Amino acid sequence: MKVVSVGAHPDDPELGMGGTIAKHTARGDNTEVILVTLGGVSGDPRQREEEAQKSSQILGVKKLHILDYPVSKLNKRSTELAKIIKKLVDEINPQRIYTHSPFDFHQVHTTVSNSVLNGAKDVNQILFYEYISSTTQYFIPDAYVDITSFIDLKIKSIKQHKSQLHRLYMRPNVVRSLANVRYIEAKLGSDPSGLAEAFVIQKMIL
Ligand SMILES: [Zn+2]
Repeated sequence: MKVVSVGAHPDDPELGMGGTIAKHTARGDNTEVILVTLGGVSGDPRQREEEAQKSSQILGVKKLHILDYPVSKLNKRSTELAKIIKKLVDEINPQRIYTHSPFDFHQVHTTVSNSVLNGAKDVNQILFYEYISSTTQYFIPDAYVDITSFIDLKIKSIKQHKSQLHRLYMRPNVVRSLANVRYIEAKLGSDPSGLAEAFVIQKMIL
């Protein structure tokens, strides 16, 4: 299976679905990541690119696409970005795409989400991942992935983003706490320290 994860910033795919990416890799799926920006003012772009490369290697990402799209152009709906994403997605031809939820108060995340929906409308399966610091209460999960065996890879990949580690939501205990809640609420099993990532299905053609 070929899957693509789209993130607005370096570290978005890891935080939202790093365990799921590692699980896809372990299953032999071909996972590619598209990063729309290199983070704008939140760090040195070259450092952030390097961090993203290291993190992708840990998760077994087959190809990392860095669009380096200007953050300043993401303050409103972008048909230009949708076209760029469409061209790339048509080339990759994945069966499934994951991206930001439109239920997010970060403007750049919602613009990317809308651009993916617009640009990848021919893809059969589209899911939104959860982003701990900016997904809103309107994100109501209806799909879960058990990542109990993949949490170490997820946390290791997050730790590669050294320029962002001062942020509260990058802390391993915070990442584990959310994943533990998601595992319990999904009734995935009886392991008290079980962990899961949650998603909202936008489209699922089987
Ligand atoms: Zn982000």
